Amino acid sequence: MTQQEAIHRRNGALHIEGVSAASLAETHSTPLYVYSLGALTGAWDAWMAGVAASANPNVKVHVAVKANSNLGVLSLFARLGAGFDIVSGGELRRVLAAGGKASDVVFSGVGKTDAEMSEALQAGVKCFNVESIPELSRLNQAASELGLKAPVALRINPDVDAHTHAYNTTGKKGNKFGIDYGDARAAYAVAAKMGNLQVCGVDCHIGSGITDTAPFIAAADRVLDLVDILEADGIPIAHIDLGGGLGIDYGEGDAPPPTPEFVKTILNHVHRRGPRNVWFEPGRSLTAAAGVLLTKVEYLKPGPVGGKNFCIVDAAMNDLARPAVYGAFHRIEAAQDRAGEAEVYDVVGPVCESGDWLGRARELNVQVGDLLAVRDTGAYSFVMSSNYNTRPRAMEVIVDGDTVHVVRKRETVQQLLAMESVLP
Ligand SMILES: *Cc1c(COP(=O)(O)O)cnc(C)c1O
Repeated sequence: MTQQEAIHRRNGALHIEGVSAASLAETHSTPLYVYSLGALTGAWDAWMAGVAASANPNVKVHVAVKANSNLGVLSLFARLGAGFDIVSGGELRRVLAAGGKASDVVFSGVGKTDAEMSEALQAGVKCFNVESIPELSRLNQAASELGLKAPVALRINPDVDAHTHAYNTTGKKGNKFGIDYGDARAAYAVAAKMGNLQVCGVDCHIGSGITDTAPFIAAADRVLDLVDILEADGIPIAHIDLGGGLGIDYGEGDAPPPTPEFVKTILNHVHRRGPRNVWFEPGRSLTAAAGVLLTKVEYLKPGPVGGKNFCIVDAAMNDLARPAVYGAFHRIEAAQDRAGEAEVYDVVGPVCESGDWLGRARELNVQVGDLLAVRDTGAYSFVMSSNYNTRPRAMEVIVDGDTVHVVRKRETVQQLLAMESVLP
């Protein structure tokens, strides 16, 4: 199912599959994250369609858990046959709790601790994406203490510009991520000599929210150039991992190519240089478009003459941080059409920060008590939420046709306070 099929309007009322936004809000209250099972599945199918249309059948797609780590969402991807890309020990536990297999897990991240390495080694993850020589030494030590061999790929920094948000670009020189391209050959020589490591691949991840295929092609070429050198050095490379990073169309102009075309283009490009096992780690492109954040209008605050009007809603930057953190754009629409004129509003939350906004200068025809939907909030949305201002985190549901599955209960203030204590 496409996003348009899954999240649609019927008689002026927003629906997620067979269920109206209004009935979801009435039953479960707001702020409420709603994910369409059909849209999540459709995004996965689009990746698989690209693989099937390409010349290369040896592809494994790992869902980047950090984009949406809800157990319900992860359990769906596990059933669809996905692998998983994790960046913490906590995410490993989530994958296992959701029914994923450690042997399908790739462990990424620049700051893995000893405890996380040991846990992942004992669980039997299939590859560690290592980002520095000190990390190689630590992993070798952790593996030797357990009498194991750690499978490793080095995350190399291909030094390509992904033309995305500065916080989201990871493959340029001077970035905290990865091993500098010029140092990669020497780092592999070090890894190959360590007794408790098994070199298996080359990894890269150039950024997030990328809407253009060219930087991925450039990165793949850099990776393949390195593979040629390494294999000539006598270090066989079983797979290349091209990371995640494919963006979505948030509706502000920049749209990526359709996923199947994107996947096929990259795979065919790689294949022209020889058969390779290719791994990917997409997050955003699998989950973002499947989600909406439902929020209620609490107040309409007219501005002074010539000033801004504010639409104050019950979701805030603690629920959805992307606008505050990245200046990110999300479409916002009223869940029910109304007769009358639209006004221009800044849509803001109740948190005591001027950075607490969800959308600026939006045309909305709403009244107090109406429901708004913040679109494309299936990735980097709930997962980045916090309890700032002692706001319990939102609830999450997955809609499948006419059925609503509660996949995260609404947090209570009592639960928040239970973590703390007053002084004796
Ligand atoms: C965040 C991340 C991803 C997923 O990125 P998307 O832009 O969501 O596809 C994949 N791999 C690594 C190492 C990451 O840090």
